[in-house]
Amino acid sequence: MSLKVLKFGGSSIGDAEALRRAAAIVRTELPAGGLVVVSALRGTTDSILGACTAAGQGDLASAQAVLEAIRSRHQDLAAELGHLQEVRPEWEPLFGRLEQVLTGMAMLGESTPRGRDGALAIGETLSAHLAARCFGGEFHEVRDVMKTDSRFGKARPQLGAIRHAAAPWLAALAKGPLWVTQGFLGSTPDGVTTTLGRGGSDTTATLLGEALNAEEVQIWTDVDGVLTADPSLVRGARPIPQMSLSEAEALSAFGAKVLHADSLAPGGRAGFRLVVANTLRPGASRTEILPVPPTRAAGTVTSVAYKEGIYLLRFPASAGLEPPMEAARSLEEAGALRFGLIASPAGTLLAVRPETHPAAEVLGTLAASGVICEAGWAVVALVGEGLRADPVAALRHLAALGHEPVGGLLTGSSTVSIAFLVPESRLGELIPRLHDRCVDCRDPSDGSAGLGLRLQP
Ligand code: ASP
Ligand code: MG
Repeated sequence: MSLKVLKFGGSSIGDAEALRRAAAIVRTELPAGGLVVVSALRGTTDSILGACTAAGQGDLASAQAVLEAIRSRHQDLAAELGHLQEVRPEWEPLFGRLEQVLTGMAMLGESTPRGRDGALAIGETLSAHLAARCFGGEFHEVRDVMKTDSRFGKARPQLGAIRHAAAPWLAALAKGPLWVTQGFLGSTPDGVTTTLGRGGSDTTATLLGEALNAEEVQIWTDVDGVLTADPSLVRGARPIPQMSLSEAEALSAFGAKVLHADSLAPGGRAGFRLVVANTLRPGASRTEILPVPPTRAAGTVTSVAYKEGIYLLRFPASAGLEPPMEAARSLEEAGALRFGLIASPAGTLLAVRPETHPAAEVLGTLAASGVICEAGWAVVALVGEGLRADPVAALRHLAALGHEPVGGLLTGSSTVSIAFLVPESRLGELIPRLHDRCVDCRDPSDGSAGLGLRLQP
């Protein structure tokens, strides 16, 4: 049996119209059953986090006001869709639980990562119950399968345990039912709720795809697949019909928002097809991410990515290697992303982006201890299989920057990307310039897959 896993993000199930659209997609894509993963309704995760913060500061009244807003939004939506009676008994204990968690936080005057994960889980669980009703499927609890360690806030999936726990799902799904489950959530070996980090439900979908031997995983979002650049900065950005897993990895590592960086590894290991499609235009172009790279002309760039909010830590040569390595380790442990670690005889440069509150705290401690720590940087990356065959092209591409200040050149073991640091304030001008200096270059031997960009001479 060939299983398909579909994932809908918060904006794809944000209101009644969106949920009806999603239901139509489920009917089309999964006529013979399959698995659907959903995240919380748009904005819910942020609201719950806000409630936790208020509760942790002892402001239970504000926290409760948020809870009431979440409750009425969900109930209004369910009523509009005609499913309120069915979901009410499933939801009531969840609202009760959220109230308990928030009250506990307010009493302790503290919202711990563990407590926050417990609260956040409610957003995903509410929406999964409603989505199950809308799609005519059966709700199943993802925490039964998604086994993680106990790094609350950004838990690491335990692949062996997940595969083991997924065995009953594999057997049951082979019979062709339609199941709906939560994204983003996991549980420790002791059964305590964890989350995979913000935006983690793509990763849920691909990890389940791997554990369930899926043939295809579809990520449904609100753009026409993976684009050649961020459309909010580049008007001419366009979808990439097919791309390699390495390109997708480089792109998401360097900031393309459409796919979560952690979500790609399962496809690499399991070899399923990963598809990114647009809920608003299901028939429009989509991106297929394939384990075997499509042909690209030498020197072409497939996409331009960037990530803002980068901090640069500068260590003098006299400090040696141990302090920067130790800083990188503790920051990553706390949930920061590392964009570069360049050690030279002139000193060591570490580029990181704190993704979690604990990571920001570690950064603050380092700065307080005298480490030079500069905010306001961004990383820009050119990505393409074409760079493998013509690495010098990357330098020509770089030349397009002219006299732009470049804070560092980041080349890693990946040969499909080249990245550099620029001041955040320059992104708005720089990204369109880089993208627009590139032209279409279709490889005649492969019409669909040959979309690439090449710098104009
Ligand atoms: N609801 C979670 C978030 O907002 C997970 C996700 O959307 O993927 O981060
Ligand atoms: Mg998302």
